Amino acid sequence: MSENAFSHLALAEPLARAVAEMGYESMTPIQAQAIPVVLQGRDVMGAAQTGTGKTAAFSLPLLQRLLKHENASTSPARHPVRALVLLPTRELADQVAQQVKLYAKHTNLRSAVVFGGMDMKPQTAELKRGVEVLVATPGRLLDHIEAKNAVLNQVEYVVLDEADRMLDIGFLPDLQRILSFLPKQRTTLLFSATFSPEIKRLANSYLQDPVTIEVSRPNATASTVEQHFYSVPDDEKRHAIKQIVRQRGITQAFVFVNSKLGCARLARTLEREGMKTTALHGDKSQDERLKALEAFKKGEVDLLVATDVAARGLDIKDVPAVFNFDVPFNPEDYIHRIGRTGRAGASGLAVTLVSPSDTRLMADLEKLLKHKVEIEALEFDEDRPRGRINDGRRAWREEEERREVRRDRAPSYEDRRREPRSTAAPKDPFFDQPYQPPEREAAATWEAGAKPAGGRISANIKPKRKVAALFKATETT
Ligand code: AMP
Repeated sequence: MSENAFSHLALAEPLARAVAEMGYESMTPIQAQAIPVVLQGRDVMGAAQTGTGKTAAFSLPLLQRLLKHENASTSPARHPVRALVLLPTRELADQVAQQVKLYAKHTNLRSAVVFGGMDMKPQTAELKRGVEVLVATPGRLLDHIEAKNAVLNQVEYVVLDEADRMLDIGFLPDLQRILSFLPKQRTTLLFSATFSPEIKRLANSYLQDPVTIEVSRPNATASTVEQHFYSVPDDEKRHAIKQIVRQRGITQAFVFVNSKLGCARLARTLEREGMKTTALHGDKSQDERLKALEAFKKGEVDLLVATDVAARGLDIKDVPAVFNFDVPFNPEDYIHRIGRTGRAGASGLAVTLVSPSDTRLMADLEKLLKHKVEIEALEFDEDRPRGRINDGRRAWREEEERREVRRDRAPSYEDRRREPRSTAAPKDPFFDQPYQPPEREAAATWEAGAKPAGGRISANIKPKRKVAALFKATETT
C-alpha cells in the first residue's frame, strides 16, 4: 500500500466510501499535507492551484469534522451553515460544490452553492431548508446575508479558495464584510496560487497561527508542452491562429485574451470566419457560460476564447493546444494557461503571439521563466486576407471580410460545419455597450485606493470605505 493511501487517514466510512467510488487511490501531495492538519483543526495557508486535488484536501477533513453534527432531521434549525467555502467565480463555485456533494453523498450533511447570475429564489429556498456546507461567490453571498437568507453565526470553518483571484477581482471589501459576520472562534483555510504581499496581509488579518503548505505547481512547462512565441502584429493574430490550427490539424484549443472586451470581440470574429468558437468571460450570463463549457467539453466547439479569470480552475484538461492571443499581463497566468495542454504525458502545443508593444510583458515573463525566450517569425500562407480590419465595427468591412473568409476558410473546418452560415450582417449590440476596462487593469488599482471593479460587487452592497483603508494597520496610501 502506498504511503499516501487514503486508508492511512482513518476517514469515516461514508467519506472513505465516497473517495473509493471516485476512484482515488492515493492522496495527492496537497492532500497528504493538508488533510491531517485540517483534521487537527489548525488554520492553513496553502499555496496550491486547481488541478492539484486541493478541493478534496479541504473538503474531506471539513466533512469529517462536521460529521459530529450530522443528523437526519428535517428542521432547518438542525442544519445551520457550519462551513463556508468562498470562490471568485461562478464556475469554480459550481465545480467545488459538485465535488463537495460527491464527497458528502453518503452522509446526512447538506451542501449548497450560491452564485450570481442566477435567480435568487431557488437558492433562497435551499438555504432556508438548511445546509451545513455553503459554497459561494462573495457578492451573491452578501445578497443572501442582507436578505437574511443566510445566517453565519455558527460557522466553524471558512475556506478562502483562489484567494489571490478574489483580491484581483476586487472582492476584498466583500470578503471583509463576510468575515465580519463569522464567529471569531473558527478554522480558516486560505488557498492561493501565490503568496503575494496582499495575500500575506489577508492571512495575517484573518488566520491564526496557520500551518503553511506549499506544493510545487504542476510542471506546466514540462517538456511535453511544445512552446512557441511568434512575432505577429495585432491585426494578423487571428490569421496566425487559423493558419496554425489548419497546418497542425489542431482539433480543439483554448485562446487566451487579456480583457472581456477583447474576448467577446475575438470570439465573434473567429466564429464569423468559420471557426466553431465560443467565449467565456465575466459578462456572460451563467447559463451562457455553462453552455459554452458544455459545448467545448462535448467537442461541439473548436476554440474556447477565454479571459484568465473566467478560465481559471475550470475542469477542462488535455486541450491539444493553447494560444495566447495576448501575452498575459501577469506572467503567472502564462503558467496557468499553458498548463491546460500537455497534461498526463500527452503532447501539447502552446503558442504565444507577441506584438511589438508586448516588450515589457515579455520581459516580465522571461523573468518568471528564468530564461530568454526565442521569438520566432511566423511565415504566413500567401492566400490570407490582407490589410487592417477594424473588427466588427463597420458592416461594410464585415461583409468584405466575410467574402475574404469564404475564400480563405480552412477545409477541415468547412467540412465539419453542418449548418450553412447566414451571410446577413449580424446586428451586434455588443458594440453599442459602453467601454469596460479590462479585468486586469481594474484589478491592479485596488491597492491604490480605487474602488473595486464595478459590477463585480453585488449591486445591493456598497463598500463603506475605500479599499486601501480596509487594511487598517500600516497602510499609508
Ligand atoms: P482540484 O484541484 O480539487 O480541482 O482537483 C482536480 C481533479 O483531481 C478533480 O477532477 C478531482 O476529482 C481529482 N482528484 C482529486 N483528488 C484526487 C486523488 N487523490 N486521486 C485522483 N484524482 C483526484
